[in-house]
Amino acid sequence: MPHTPERTCVACRRKRPQADLTRLTRVLDGWTLQRGARAGRGAYVCADSPACWAERRLRRAFGAHAPAVSAQLSVATLPEEPGLPQSQQRNTAAPSGRPGGS
Ligand SMILES: [Zn+2]
Repeated sequence: MPHTPERTCVACRRKRPQADLTRLTRVLDGWTLQRGARAGRGAYVCADSPACWAERRLRRAFGAHAPAVSAQLSVATLPEEPGLPQSQQRNTAAPSGRPGGS
């Protein structure tokens, strides 16, 4: 049978195939989800389990960085928003310079 590399989720401590986990990489100012950033330490969190993204569950592994990691996990797994710029049309017809004068 094929050998699947297994990693342990730092939140729930479950062993899972690496493909089911999100890898976090230690960087200078904390942890990043950036793909490709493979240098340095790595940590794994379930990619499909919101319960594992909770700040308090990450605190054991990430300490003070837990809130930031939690936020990154939540953002990364949410569907991308359209991000349409809502240009509100304001009715500010400011009169600039009146003709005439005194
Ligand atoms: Zn987990």
